[in-house]
Formats: sequence, structure tokens, C-alpha cells
Amino acid sequence: MVSFDASKELLEFIVDRVNIGVFILNKDHEVQLWNSFMASNSGVSAESVIGQNIFKTFPSLPERWFARKVNSVFMLKNFAFTSWEQRSHLFPFHHNRPVTSGMEFMCQDITLMPIKTPDGEVESVCVLLFDATDTAIYHTMHKAAMKKLEVASRVDGLTQLYNRAHWQSRLVEEFSRAGRYQHPMSLLLFDLDHFKSTNDTYGHLGGDAVLVAVAELVRQSLRESDVAGRYGGEEFGIILPDTDAEGAFVVAERLRKSIEGFKVPFEKTTIGMSASIGVVGFVPGLKDAEEMIAKADDALYKAKEGGRNQVVVSS
Ligand code: GH3
Ligand code: MG
Ligand code: MG
Repeated sequence: MVSFDASKELLEFIVDRVNIGVFILNKDHEVQLWNSFMASNSGVSAESVIGQNIFKTFPSLPERWFARKVNSVFMLKNFAFTSWEQRSHLFPFHHNRPVTSGMEFMCQDITLMPIKTPDGEVESVCVLLFDATDTAIYHTMHKAAMKKLEVASRVDGLTQLYNRAHWQSRLVEEFSRAGRYQHPMSLLLFDLDHFKSTNDTYGHLGGDAVLVAVAELVRQSLRESDVAGRYGGEEFGIILPDTDAEGAFVVAERLRKSIEGFKVPFEKTTIGMSASIGVVGFVPGLKDAEEMIAKADDALYKAKEGGRNQVVVSS
């Protein structure tokens, strides 16, 4: 059995050694206890802070917020918590993680505990301050990774245009918007001409260089609201919101010319290319986005049949 004094000493020993900030405040917000964690992180020793009002010693503390927290524990006689996610820190302590972690100060979870007299009155509040920096760093990294994944799931790796699944879901959205608000909307579908022989002549890497260059030409020739995607191997789709078939024809013709005129630098040579483009404008009779794609595909097929390197508008 440990005597009262011995157990008190043991408690003080533990409180001083734990890797948690521990301090106690009375009703006037004067410090009653200040452990080593608080002393070493704040640079203010227990001797100089005990008996002092905490807000006088640390004028940079968020007084309104923290005083209200502490006072609520006195009043409600209950525990209170705050997490780094609500407020990243109470004290601007430094931490020893790499600067690359992106955290300027130690993130802190805080628990406030009422210390009661035998008759149940709260005589002081004990504050525990946990270093939550690692959790915060992992949380932030996780969020960034999820964001990257989300982008990757929408974008085609080679061309950085939208991939087929995402592009098609955007088409469905724009199709229903056009129907609902009676807005014009158009769709271009284009396919590179004789791409097999491009691959045969320059190899697969040469073919890839062409796809990347075409994607860049597409990006350059579109407006912010247009949605371009890689529909298949060397087939691309472009959604033009608020554009009728006539306007889409102009866009398609401009794009066709820029593809025709561009020479893709590859190894010690350049690769020429051309594209056939099918255009379809939204009309109220269309059943769904699928039907719109089918019509654009028919027009594209006609452009191929008609001799390639041309634009055909679906009738
Ligand atoms: P057409 O004028 O009728 O379109 O003739 P084409 O030779 O382009 O015929 P098609 O559209 O059927 O050929 C598509 C070719 O594109 C076949 C395939 O090997 C190639 N391809 C598909 N995806 C890629 C890719 O990611 N990189 C490269 N380099 N080639 C690809
Ligand atoms: Mg082709
Ligand atoms: Mg093709």
C-alpha cells in the first residue's frame, strides 16, 4: 500500500513526465499547475507562470474562445473537448516534423476536466493538451491523395483530357440541361485518319506523340465551358454547350484545319496528320445522349467515306 504522500508524489512525477500538456486554472484563470511539457514547449517555467492569469502571461491566446470554454466547464460541471479540426491549436508551439509537412504549428486536441470539491463544486479546471500533429499530417496527406485519385479517375493518362466514362457522364448532364432549358448544345466526334499507318511508320511512341499533340490542339481551340474527352484509342469527343450545329461546324472546321496544318515533332522528323469529324446539334426530338453519339458517329462515318479530312454535320 502506498501512503497518501507517496501516491501524490508519484502522481506529480507522472504528470510531469507524460508527453501531454497538463495545466490547471482556477476561476480567475490563474495557473495552479503547469507541467514540464507546457514549460518546455512554451518556454515559460512553472515558477514564473503559477499564480498568474494565463491570458496575461500569454497575450496571444484566443481569450474570448478559450475563456468561454473554461467557464463552461465551471458552469456545467462537465468535460469539454476541442479537436485540431475545429481549431488547429491553442498555443502556437513548434513541432519537430519536417517543414514539408505543411504544418506551421503543433496541432492540438484539448480536453478540459472539472476538478470538484467533495461537495460537488468545480474549484478548478484541468486542461490536457494532446499533440495531434501526426494525425493532422496524415489526414492532410490522405485528403491530397484522395483528390489526386479523384482527378486520375476522370482523366486519361496519356492526353490529360477527360476519359470516356467521365466525358460520357458530362454528356448526359449537358444533354438533359439542353432539353430542360431549351438551350442549344452540340457534339463533335472525331477520329484520326489512317492512324494505323502512323503507328506502322513511326511506331507506337510516334502514334502516342500524335495523340498528345492533338489533345493540345483541342485544348487550345476550345472555350472554358467546352468538354473534351478521349472517347477511344484515337477517337475524341467534344461537347459544346450553348452552341448550335452551325456554330459547332465552325469550331470543327477550325479544329480540322489546325490538325491538318500541324506537324508533330518526333525523334528526328515530324509527323503529319488529319482528322474526320462528325457534328450533331441537339434537337428536341432526340431520345437520349446515346442517340446523339450514334448520330455523330454516323456523320463521322460519312466524313471517312467522303474521303477523310473533312467535317460532316448530321442531317
Ligand atoms: P481510319 O482513317 O479509317 O480511322 O483509319 P485508322 O487507321 O485510323 O483506323 P482505326 O481508327 O480503326 O485505327 C485505330 C488505331 O489506333 C488502331 C490502334 O492500334 C491505334 N491506337 C489505339 N489506341 C492507341 C494508343 O493509345 N496509342 C497508339 N499509338 N495507337 C493507338
Ligand atoms: Mg482512325
Ligand atoms: Mg478509330
